[in-house]
Amino acid sequence: MAILVLGGAGYIGSHTVDRLIEKGYDVAVVDNLVTGHRAAVNPKARFYEGDVRDKTFLSGVFDKEDVEGVIHFAAFSVVPESMAKPLKYFDNNTYGMISLLEVMNAHHVNKIVFSSTAATYGEPKHIPIRETDPQVPTNPYGESKLAMEKIMHWSDVAYGIKFVALRYFNVAGAKPDGSIGEDHHPETHLVPIILQVAAGERDELTIFGDDYDTKDGTNVRDYVHVLDLADAHILALKYLQAGHDSDAFNLGSSTGFSNKEILEAARDVTGKPIPAKMGPRRAGDPSTLIAASDKARKVLGWDPQFDDVHEIIKTAWNWKETHPKGYDDRKGNK
Ligand code: NAD
Ligand code: UDP
Repeated sequence: MAILVLGGAGYIGSHTVDRLIEKGYDVAVVDNLVTGHRAAVNPKARFYEGDVRDKTFLSGVFDKEDVEGVIHFAAFSVVPESMAKPLKYFDNNTYGMISLLEVMNAHHVNKIVFSSTAATYGEPKHIPIRETDPQVPTNPYGESKLAMEKIMHWSDVAYGIKFVALRYFNVAGAKPDGSIGEDHHPETHLVPIILQVAAGERDELTIFGDDYDTKDGTNVRDYVHVLDLADAHILALKYLQAGHDSDAFNLGSSTGFSNKEILEAARDVTGKPIPAKMGPRRAGDPSTLIAASDKARKVLGWDPQFDDVHEIIKTAWNWKETHPKGYDDRKGNK
């Protein structure tokens, strides 16, 4: 039986597909390549190009594949864009989930592992953030993902579709052999932007705000390596296969690094000066986001291997150095 990975050509999806195949799973991928890359998909996975919201297309995939469980990464995830274009996010993310659950229900597939996010919590009342804390998103992206969690809950109640919502904190790094990595256009995440400066593609980094109530005034975030994240999805699948109830888990390291600390770590790893300047705050940035991740460790048996932010950055730098143009599949690159 197959595991169907929606959004498997994206950054986190492609690492998870790769990991599933390494562990002997039979994998099919659905992706419309809106932000993903065909070359990122392990060639042992069957690939279907199309949109999750297209129920005729999606039903066709479920007809062809003997789907045991679904891992759902397919979504838009750029916070500032979601502030400007909220309907785009509710359409792709939230409606995409409705379309997927309808097709799953029609095909009697009752297991889904879902990419949720720390953005569903909004501005935390206390640190570290626990799964039971209030979820009050401060942007449409987080709201679209919270709605997806709620839609899965009611589909469980009505149709018995069991879910695991994995609430990722800050994801970074790449497969250590450098064969796959992060390639977003435009790039908005801190670590790949810093490495673009290190590689000479950007003149300097702008740090968004140094007047927060943190150790050095810059935001503090909790970084998790993409392969540790991939492993958590496989553990979540096993959890559902074992017949457990639907649940949500934070995925983070439970350690916070300030933006200045990440910059210093990247300078150490790359040996490059990486010029940086201070800029104004970015709208919607919470001061500190650190996960309580003991639940995933205890219940799923999650045991992250990358506990050092230098090691995480090292793998991202290896990908950057070996793939200066990423997957090199943008129009105009060729
Ligand atoms: P990504 O953009 O690299 O991957 C998303 C993939 O989904 C892409 O390959 C894209 O082409 C595909 N896709 C999007 N809409 C689709 C649709 N309607 N039909 C078919 N395919 C579609 O993003 P990522 O960084 O790998 O993130 C994956 C998931 O993890 C997202 O759902 C995101 O919300 C969530 N997440 C990411 C982070 C992070 O730090 N990167 C943090 C928290 C949560
Ligand atoms: N950040 C920054 N400069 C950049 C990009 C990001 O200072 O060019 C900061 C951002 O304000 C936040 C942290 O880096 O404090 C992590 O941002 P990212 O977008 O990577 O992830 P987020 O925490 O928003 O999910």
